[in-house]
Formats: sequence, C-alpha cells, structure tokens
Amino acid sequence: CGIVGYIGKRDVAPLLLEGLQRLEYRGYDSAGIALHASGKAGGLKAAKAKGRVRELEARLPKRFNGTAGIAHTRWATHGAPNDVNAHPHLDAQEKVAVVHNGIIDNAAELRDKLTAEGFVLVSDTDTEVLAHLVARSEAATLEEKVREAVRHVEGTYGIAVLHADFPDRIVVARNGSPVVLGIGEKEMFVSSDVAALVSHTRQVVTLDDGEMATLKADDYRTYTTEGSSTSARPTTVEWEA
Ligand code: GLU
Repeated sequence: CGIVGYIGKRDVAPLLLEGLQRLEYRGYDSAGIALHASGKAGGLKAAKAKGRVRELEARLPKRFNGTAGIAHTRWATHGAPNDVNAHPHLDAQEKVAVVHNGIIDNAAELRDKLTAEGFVLVSDTDTEVLAHLVARSEAATLEEKVREAVRHVEGTYGIAVLHADFPDRIVVARNGSPVVLGIGEKEMFVSSDVAALVSHTRQVVTLDDGEMATLKADDYRTYTTEGSSTSARPTTVEWEA
C-alpha cells in the first residue's frame, strides 16, 4: 500500500514514522521499518506490527538508530494481516529487507521453487519471495541482484530494498505501482506517494514502469531493469500545505 525510504545524515526511524503517518489516509492493516543499524556491528534491524503506526512505534527496539531505512504500510492481498506478514520481509540471514506494493502473480511458483532449493519462507505473503531472490543472487552489485530478482517476477511492484553488505544505498524498482524519489540536500527520499515527501523536498523524480533507481545520500541514478541508464529529471511539485 505505502512505501517510504530515506538515506542521508539524520536519524531515520522518526523520519520514516512521520512518512508512514502521512500515508495513513490511504488505509492499511499493518506497518514496519527496516534500517541499517549504526555502530560497529552494523547489519539490518527491523520492526513490524499489525495495526496502526503508533503500535509499530511502541514496538521499536531501544537502540533503533541509523541513517538509511525503508518502511511500509500494508494492505494485505496475500496472507492475513498479522505481524509476520507485515513488511519489510527479510531473508533468513537478515542480509536483505524488502518492502513491496502490488501483487506478484507467480508467487506460488516462486515459493515452490525457493522451497525446493532449501529456502524457508516464514510468511504467507507474495512479497517474501523477493527477499530470498535478492539474497540468493550471486551478482556482485545490489543493483544486479535486484534486477535478477525482478526478472523472475510477474505482476505489479513498487519495491525498495536494503542489503546489509551495501549500507550506502537503497535500490528501488517500479512496475505498475508508483515510486517517487525525493531529491534533498545530501539526503534522498523515496515514496509511493508524493504526500510523504513534500514536507522535506519539492524536487521529485517519478519512475516509469520498468525503471529502477539507486539512492545514495548525495546522489541518485535511474536505469531500466535491463540496466541501461535513463535520464529521469527532477520536477518541482506544487503542493498546498
Ligand atoms: N501483496 C503484498 C502483500 O499482500 C503487498 C500489499 C500492499 O501493496 O500493501 O503483502
């Protein structure tokens, strides 16, 4: 239903919670956040909860700090609304976190294929296959891992992906579900809805179907799912506060 992401210098959890609250008007049944944990140990941390954003907020671990993260409000299509089915979805090693809007039509086949390969799926969602597909990719870059994952997928998606080994970036992709980048000063935002961006920046880039983007704190680039660069330019949104 709703996606928010941020990479920059500020503490990410409060920013993501604020973004999720701006998406509440769309309706949802659960919410969640994943971030790159700051500090020596690093790695991904995630929290999710059935119900309102304030229930998620109450459940955030004590040390839940970082400067890059993704968040989601879910409107269930595959699997009941509950804590486990809430996004983000992570692979078993917690290397990859994915939030997803849309419907993966061949999820059942992909689940069977992954299960046969020894992956253990813990949720009933169509989305979870994406986390395992990215984690299982042997490609060298996160961009190529995500590209490989979406090549297996039929259906609609707007996705944002974190990978523990690539803490300097968020990779996003769009096919049939909106993805909008918000271009800030040494910080970048992403959302499915411009309403979650406009309190931070009016400079936005709207992705097309078949387009992906890499967001870093001070830079972004867009390209197709085949890998060729695209020249999506920021436009200024008019917005009555
Ligand atoms: N199909 C996914 C699910 O049921 C995403 C739903 C959404 O767009 O919120 O988890």
